[in-house]
Amino acid sequence: MEFITLSDWKRAVIKVGSGIIAPGGIKCSSKYTLPIAAFITECINRGKEIILVSSGAVAAGLSTQPQLLKKNNRSIPEKQALAAIGQTMLMASWSRFFDFPCSQILLTYDDIHNRKRFVNAKNTLKKLLELGTLPIVNENDTVATEELKVGDNDNLAAYVAMLAEADLLIICTDIDGLYDSDPKKNKNAKLIPVVEKIDSSIYSIAGDSKNSISTGGMKTKIEAAKKATVVGIDTIIINATKSEVFDYLLDGKLFGTIFKKNENPITAKKMWMLYALPANGKIIVDSGAAKAIQKKGASLLPSGIIDIEGEFKKNEAVEVYLKDANDLRLIAKGITQYNSNELKKIQGKKSNQIKNILGYLRTEEVIHRDELVLIDNE
Ligand code: GLU
Repeated sequence: MEFITLSDWKRAVIKVGSGIIAPGGIKCSSKYTLPIAAFITECINRGKEIILVSSGAVAAGLSTQPQLLKKNNRSIPEKQALAAIGQTMLMASWSRFFDFPCSQILLTYDDIHNRKRFVNAKNTLKKLLELGTLPIVNENDTVATEELKVGDNDNLAAYVAMLAEADLLIICTDIDGLYDSDPKKNKNAKLIPVVEKIDSSIYSIAGDSKNSISTGGMKTKIEAAKKATVVGIDTIIINATKSEVFDYLLDGKLFGTIFKKNENPITAKKMWMLYALPANGKIIVDSGAAKAIQKKGASLLPSGIIDIEGEFKKNEAVEVYLKDANDLRLIAKGITQYNSNELKKIQGKKSNQIKNILGYLRTEEVIHRDELVLIDNE
């Protein structure tokens, strides 16, 4: 058994999946959650802060609705009703383990991409920790429509880690960590204890493994790790069906997989821009502009823009693409100072011509460096 020494941490988000909460597919079982709760209590006793992201609402709700149990294609209202029924059971199930109060936060994608709601959720979370509660987060499945959902609690946990400015994201699942191939199919599959950088080779080994009640698989865990590590949050995957894993963790030792945090993390605001803010259009640039942005830390100026796609307003997020032969490659995302109509007029022009062309100069740059985030698209 190989152990990794964990750096000391102060605040962690622990994500517990449906497979751990409802190992039989329904109900909230204490089989694996009891050791998790003991671990949380011990961490809190040691002065650490914990936020729990818990799945399992739909699975819990199902235990009260046997007629829906065998149904394969449950309708959206049925699923949303099951989540509403099960969410209270989920909270009751966790609360009974703790001597301190639990608090419930239900979020949707909308709460993350809307900056005001994001900041509001962040402040509430901070206060709930100050008040000595254990915040328990889930997706607001009952009201979130498909397009407004994060969709899986792995990615939701990464957003919460970002909101909470955590320094560790712990993803609890039912296998030991990330393997170099699917351990359920290949008995020679090897556990990868350390991932220094999440690139395409890591995504390609993850596949789409899923169990019947979980929304996420290894792919969503890697997506979550990517989001967290780029903002400087170490992310670990552990097997929560093995209670000894928590004893090791309390000794600062990891048995599982660690995705190492990026040594030059982007700021939380840029992270929010990159992952949470939907882009409303595209700005296509030439190789000179791409180089200036990527290598010289420059802002985006109108001179390097060769095309605009979509309609967008000033202060909206746009994606920046490099036109390379006939290929378009996404290189950055940022907040534009000019809308799409204005940009069509000033594209390819020097900044000192903007005033002549538009009749006003808002800013010399189209996207200021501080509002531009590079995308590492390896
Ligand atoms: N929010 C869902 C539930 O509570 C779970 C989503 C997930 O497991 O990723 O049932």
